[in-house]
Amino acid sequence: MKTIVAKFGGTSLADADQFKKVKDIILSDPGRRIIVASAPGKRFEGDEKITDMLFKCYEAARAGGDYDKILESIKERFRDIIIGLDIDFPLNQEFEILKERILRKPNRDYIASRGEYFNSKILAEYLNFTFVDPEWCVCFDENGILDDTMTRRAMRAALRPLKNAVIAGFYGADGSGRIHTLSRGGSDVTGSLAACAVDADLYENWTDVTGLLAADPRIVDSPRTVEYLSFNELRTLSYMGASVLHTDSVLPASESGISICIKNTNHPEEKGTTIVRKLPEGEKKYPVIGVAGKPGMSVLQVEKVMVSDASGFSAIILDILSKNRIAFEQCLTGIDTVTLVIRTDYLSDCKEDLIREIKNTLNPDHISLTENLSMIAVVGERSTDTCDANVRVLQALADAGIEISTINQGAGKLNLLIAVPEEKYEQAIRVIYSTIE
Ligand code: ASP
Repeated sequence: MKTIVAKFGGTSLADADQFKKVKDIILSDPGRRIIVASAPGKRFEGDEKITDMLFKCYEAARAGGDYDKILESIKERFRDIIIGLDIDFPLNQEFEILKERILRKPNRDYIASRGEYFNSKILAEYLNFTFVDPEWCVCFDENGILDDTMTRRAMRAALRPLKNAVIAGFYGADGSGRIHTLSRGGSDVTGSLAACAVDADLYENWTDVTGLLAADPRIVDSPRTVEYLSFNELRTLSYMGASVLHTDSVLPASESGISICIKNTNHPEEKGTTIVRKLPEGEKKYPVIGVAGKPGMSVLQVEKVMVSDASGFSAIILDILSKNRIAFEQCLTGIDTVTLVIRTDYLSDCKEDLIREIKNTLNPDHISLTENLSMIAVVGERSTDTCDANVRVLQALADAGIEISTINQGAGKLNLLIAVPEEKYEQAIRVIYSTIE
């Protein structure tokens, strides 16, 4: 039988009705044996996530203030779930333990982790699955850094013998038993590690969206859902601002060759988005998977005649940046120019010094800094192989009168990166999207 690791996010487990949908999904495929659960998320617009409430509780306790009220409303949320599911759960007892820990010494990560802990225990009880506390098998060092290798080994030992299990996302513990959390949204990472540990056939990530959209829906009207994309395409789209999975969750699954499927708990019949190594036979090949971008970029251009003959010119510029601890996003070299794309906020208090240092060191013919740019990535591993998609994109931008500050297409042909003026950013995204459909 195939093994699926299914992770359910906060909105999928926000109340008893959502739990019921989750149970139907899990029971509809016996392969869904290992379940990873988040803490209850928002039930409606303006609602609060349990994890945020727990952080508030910690802050109040640390400041010596009154945290009873907030703790009571957290308990209320779990009580509603238990009553709605009609299950036995020792809620009072569990909250006494939490209260006692807060009184003794409030520990931020411990308190924050309780959302996942309670929710997973409740889900395990509701499904009649074994509860696995990640305290036993998600391993951190004493500085709170996740130990990937140890975690895989311990998770394998904990999960493999079980027929089915619910493991809490988002936290683990160090050798002395101290709880540590991952960064926000970290249950995605727990899911990915669990999938690797049990050599899963598939890692499902159930959430409240129907998958990854080909463009930002705040800019483009009803963009299409991407059905299949590669790990590299996902990485580029995420880096450029499209958010659907925690970035750290992609690498473990991709290294182990485990596909990740993003599905909507509220519409399980929809196909969702699958991140695969290889597109399944017969699937439609979109030359361009999607378009994403981010504002707040600057372009630094340094010109000197014969720069391409002067070996070491670019290296010296990069060295100056590195000495000033300024990271750059892209470096393009031409016959007589070196162009660097840098985040504007990295330059805010040092741009004059940087330009002066480059001038003094290299004596360029010309140096300029253009600010207020946005970077757009037109992503698709097949975009240059199969058709003239990139040419059409550039033509469409020219037709719309959108000036392009830089163009970057590496030999890897994964994406086309274009810098446009910030005020034209949204228009450019719409223009590009209309050409790639
Ligand atoms: N509950 C945690 C958060 O809100 C972790 C997660 O949901 O993945 O960030």
